[in-house]
Amino acid sequence: MLGVLGGGQLGRMFVHAAQALGYDTVVLDPDPASPAGLVSHHLIQADYRDPDALRELAARALAITTEFENVPADALAELARLRPVSPAAEAVAIAQDRIREKAHFARCAARSGVAPAPYAAIETEADLAAVPDALLPGILKTARLGYDGKGQARVASREELAAAWRRMGGVACVLEQLLPLALECSVIVARGQDGQVVSLPVQRNLHRGGILAVTEVHEQNLPPALVQRAQAATVDIANELRYVGVLCVEYFVLEDGTLVVNEMAPRPHNSGHYTVDACDLSQFDLQVRTLAGLPLVQPRQHSAAVMLNLLGDLWFDAAGQPRSLPWTEVLALPGAHLHLYGKTEARHGRKMGHLTFTAASAGEVRANALRAAELLGLESF
Ligand code: ATP
Ligand code: MG
Repeated sequence: MLGVLGGGQLGRMFVHAAQALGYDTVVLDPDPASPAGLVSHHLIQADYRDPDALRELAARALAITTEFENVPADALAELARLRPVSPAAEAVAIAQDRIREKAHFARCAARSGVAPAPYAAIETEADLAAVPDALLPGILKTARLGYDGKGQARVASREELAAAWRRMGGVACVLEQLLPLALECSVIVARGQDGQVVSLPVQRNLHRGGILAVTEVHEQNLPPALVQRAQAATVDIANELRYVGVLCVEYFVLEDGTLVVNEMAPRPHNSGHYTVDACDLSQFDLQVRTLAGLPLVQPRQHSAAVMLNLLGDLWFDAAGQPRSLPWTEVLALPGAHLHLYGKTEARHGRKMGHLTFTAASAGEVRANALRAAELLGLESF
């Protein structure tokens, strides 16, 4: 039996992959109807820090993983005293803190040449006063607990910066220079207990309102030299952490072609959902393999892929009334793979599911995905 801390959609897809290999699963989540809890053999319904629940999870599962980024690192450390846990609490703690994360990236940059955006950590009034002008205009991001663009503010001047930092309650933040982005991409790697690393293709990502909207993965999507640099930098970041498990690193490509490392997620990632349908091993298969100590094999993408995120907004019409969606027409398109996460309530910005298109060529997959976007009322891309 394999265990997972957290019951969201990533946990649900992990459970599906584990079950395909014949494992039983146990999920710990406070929600009695979480996406992963609904499909798992066992559910421990409790808070992530509940000591009895953590002990029960360790008693049942032979190895334990996590599926969301803000899982309490001390809960992982507690579990690790009882069972193998991957990723390790220490790696998760670094990814949870933008200040530590950026310091790690800056260390890796010495070898890979791929640096984070110019930044300054702001923890005190003195840090605030010492911010160099060159970082403005910039983006102020809370060091902890940000996701989907939450906990961020764009600031053009020192006055706006000071006001934004106060609005955030004066918590630890990083100020990053606002960069001229040409595009965004991400790389997912899996690293085994023996240090072997395999990587998935580089994903090209389009965000809307700070949330991932579209991921495209097909030939000629990105210049080959860039693909190699991004993959090498990601392997380096994983190795330097002695990471075990699935890791996603997000990058910016600037207008002048510079590759900049943005942030990492110590788990499978939304931009890797296409691997379930377009690769012979998905990011969740890799998570199961690293957790169970099974062989890692380099995955092969067999189809061009486009993934569209389905946010809760889609379930409402322009007047804010619930509407039904044209699934029949969407599923009549070739290569459509619909994944809904079993969430009963649609909310603005909530990830309800995703739709992956696969095809033999980039042209074909884009045409079908664009047609689906039109049917669903999603913006073109
Ligand atoms: P996630 O949901 O990926 O965890 P997040 O809330 O942690 O998101 P970031 O990935 O840091 O936030 O930023 C969200 C988006 O804002 C980025 O994908 C990018 O589009 C934009 N962005 C962030 N930092 C910068 C920057 N320094 N310059 C320009 N754009 C940026
Ligand atoms: Mg991000």
